[in-house]
Parts: sequence; C-alpha cells; structure tokens
Amino acid sequence: MKAARLVAPRSVEIHDVEPASLVPGSVIVEISFAGIGGSDLAAYVAGPSSDENSWPPAWFGHEWSGRVVDVGDDVPHRFVGERVVGLAPPACGTCRPCGAGLTSHCDFVLEAIVGADPLADSHGAFASQIRVDTRRLLRIPEGVDDADAVLAEPASVAAHAVTRSGMALGDVIGVVGAGTIGLLVAELARLAGAGRVVAVDPEPMRRELACDLGADAAFAPADGAVDWLSRAGSGLGADVVFDCAGLGDSLASAVSMARRGGTVVAVGVADRRGGGSEPSVGRLDLVRREITLQASLGYVVSDSQRVLGLMAEDRLRVAPILDPDPIGLHELDATLRDLVETPRGRRKPLVAPNA
Ligand SMILES: [Zn+2]
Repeated sequence: MKAARLVAPRSVEIHDVEPASLVPGSVIVEISFAGIGGSDLAAYVAGPSSDENSWPPAWFGHEWSGRVVDVGDDVPHRFVGERVVGLAPPACGTCRPCGAGLTSHCDFVLEAIVGADPLADSHGAFASQIRVDTRRLLRIPEGVDDADAVLAEPASVAAHAVTRSGMALGDVIGVVGAGTIGLLVAELARLAGAGRVVAVDPEPMRRELACDLGADAAFAPADGAVDWLSRAGSGLGADVVFDCAGLGDSLASAVSMARRGGTVVAVGVADRRGGGSEPSVGRLDLVRREITLQASLGYVVSDSQRVLGLMAEDRLRVAPILDPDPIGLHELDATLRDLVETPRGRRKPLVAPNA
C-alpha cells in the first residue's frame, strides 16, 4: 500500500509500505479523504526532525474520513463497511488527571489528538490505509458525505473553543484569523446564539467565506473591525474574541477588539514551526481593560458528537471551506509546496489516496 512520508524539510515521498497488522482493539480503515491543514504545512516545512518540537508521524494527515475494511479479533465484524472519522477517544479513566476526576484533561486524549498514541501507525492518513484504535472512531451520520466529514476534526476544535469561551446569547463575537478553524468558530458561535460576528483576515477570499458562513462583516486589519465594533451591538467592543491565527500581532488584535471586561480565547497552537513569531500582548492592555484570557487546546469526544450532529442536520455548513477537487497522493508534495510558497487564496485541499 502507498503512504506519504516526510523525508526532509519540504520533501514528501510516496513509499510502498507493509500494511500495519491488526492488534487487539484496532481496525484497518481505507482512507476516503484526508485534509491538509495548517499543522500539516508546519510539519512539511519543519521536516521529520527528532527534536522535542517534531510532529509525531501520525500527525501528518490527521484529519480524515474512511471506511472500515478489517477488524481485530476482539472487534465485532459488523464494523466492516462502516464510514468513520478518526477523532479523540473518550477519557481513559486511568491516567493521573482522570484519577483526579479531571477527565476533560485526560493524558490519553491529548496524546491521541497530537498523534502520539501508542497504537498510532508509523504514518498519518496521507496513505491508502491506516490502523486505528476503535476508541478513536465515530460513525459518519447519514447525510454527511465523506469529504465534508473530514472537517469533523477541525470543527471539534472550534466547538471546544466556543464552549470554553462561555459566550452568552446575543454576545458580539470577534474572530481573528479566518482559516478553517476561524471560519468554523464564526459559524459555531452563530449557532450558539451570537448576536453579531466580525472576522479579521488579510486574505480577501477568506473574508468572503467568513461572510458567506455567518459573519456579519470581515476586515483585513483589526482596525477596521474595532471601528465596526464601535457601531455594533452596545458599541463597546466584542464580548468574546477568538484568536485563531496565533501569529504575530493576532493576540494583540484580539485584545484590541474586546470590550472592557471581555474575554479573549487563544485557540490551538500556532504553527511557528513553519515560521512566524510568538504572538504577544501587553500586560497593561489586559489589566487596564480587565480582559479575561482563555485558552483552548484540541477537543473532547462530546465536541465531535455535537459537530457531527450539526453537520447531519445541515446546520453546520462546511462544504464551502473545501476545495471541490481532491488531489491524489502523487500530487501531495507539489500541493504542499505550493501552499507554503503561495499560501493565499486557496480553499482547504483534500487528498483522496485511493482515487
Ligand atoms: Zn485519562
């Protein structure tokens, strides 16, 4: 079978590899689609280095949908043929956080999310097949196609951030960075009862997408959004601002958009391994306006169940985020290079390894 491997910075080769053998609790999934996300680009730029900042191989291609083609001895045969997505498992119940009752901070869940669980394959989902622990699988509901289902993973990240933000009915929401996560945050905040939503992104196509998916307005620099916020709702600024960019001045922009006493949520890790600087914000800017700083990392299984339900009911629209023409595995290296060198103006590409 074929699998993409990062062999050096900015170099992916397609290798013939032995399919992983089944172990207890695992299944083999034939990949329908794997999404290319910001973290895949960061891994591509960084290469397969062995230092502590390297991405585990299973992380490279971690947003995917597929079909179960074989099951381990202890897994019911009826799972064969199921359409599935790979997501975070439920809390393990045995790690130290779980033992302390902090199941939403389970070590096993975190390891699985970052591609470091012990059962993970030696490659990610840019491959014909992968082996997966059944605890990491959710069925794709009727009415959600395999391509859209790839976005269950980033939508779970977005749902987790919206939930953690504590936003309330009618809140004015700001979103800095209208990439996949930012677009989904804007959409989910709207579904969660946001009053007004404003997005900030330098790329015109993404601003257009943000407005198509539920933002009331979108601006290139944060100044435009601050001005808009002075006329929206109470005119005091955003109640909650999500920093979904995590680069350069994104956090400071988010703080500038928040009202006095508002909340700023730092969503996910920044892809600094692909270049860019650590976002910073002045302590005085936070204190003077009594900003609450929140952080959101990954997601838990209940976030994924929620977003798959919303997708099945056609209330969470994800298709406009995706490039409608999937690429083959052999085009992965050139596509990654193109995305890194010309990052603007593309929708999220999908890889169809078995097409
Ligand atoms: Zn645990």
